[in-house]
Amino acid sequence: MTAVSIAHVSKVFNQGNPGEVVALTKVELTVERGQFVSLIGPSGCGKSTLLRLIADLIEPTTGTVTVAGKPARRARLDQEYGIAFQQAGLFEWRTVRRNVELPLELRGTSGSKRRARAEEMLALVGLADFAGHYPAQLSGGMQQRVAIARALAVHPPLLLMDEPFGALDEMTRERLQGELLQICASTGTSTVFVTHSIPEAVFLSDRVVVMSARPGRITASIDVALPSRDEAGRQSPEFFDAITRVRRALRGDTALSAVDG
Ligand code: ADP
Ligand code: MG
Repeated sequence: MTAVSIAHVSKVFNQGNPGEVVALTKVELTVERGQFVSLIGPSGCGKSTLLRLIADLIEPTTGTVTVAGKPARRARLDQEYGIAFQQAGLFEWRTVRRNVELPLELRGTSGSKRRARAEEMLALVGLADFAGHYPAQLSGGMQQRVAIARALAVHPPLLLMDEPFGALDEMTRERLQGELLQICASTGTSTVFVTHSIPEAVFLSDRVVVMSARPGRITASIDVALPSRDEAGRQSPEFFDAITRVRRALRGDTALSAVDG
């Protein structure tokens, strides 16, 4: 079964008004179960809009969005996915544990079950010892890990992430990339990940989807096969080759990206 299926999707904001923006046009995208797909493109090309459509936070102007074989609305109600954004978005007055418990509370999960699940998720992101802390007591990287733990708390089959590591320093970012891959692999989670970092997209992804602006659309889809997703993988010829292919596609070098893609 496919994790995400997007067919003939367009999104026009303020349609028919002076402020009309064609944010997305003719988008076709399929994410297979267990796949890690990144969306990359210049600012304003519609990456966040596409992610928000998958999450059913906004509706498409035309076309259909299917998540886990269901309409996006149904998938949202069934909590088929977890979301993490660039800002961790934690509640300052809640402890780390109670932040992670929040989606389970909304789902009506019992207190003891919530607590056990939150502890399991915090252990997964290496924060078991910080369950009783408040967000302000944690570094930016730790806060982002809490946000990931919260996104994973309901064991969603799909994880949607919008530049989740954008605000972090390069070292923390690389470490979290590794941790994220381990979590996705061990839980079988499918992921759609927005970034504007080419090395980040290449390191994480089975497939990098390249977008361009005005109007926002998909211009290339580049498969990435690294020998391993670790330090050796980052230094492999395949890594640099994929980076070159994504760079060319971003530059709009269509002849080459068509051959590559
Ligand atoms: P990206 O995430 O790739 O930087 P966005 O998806 O945020 O791009 O935005 C794509 C385009 O849609 C931009 O031109 C942006 O200004 C416009 N846009 C996004 N959200 C809205 C909105 N709610 N109302 C009007 N225009 C919007
Ligand atoms: Mg964005």
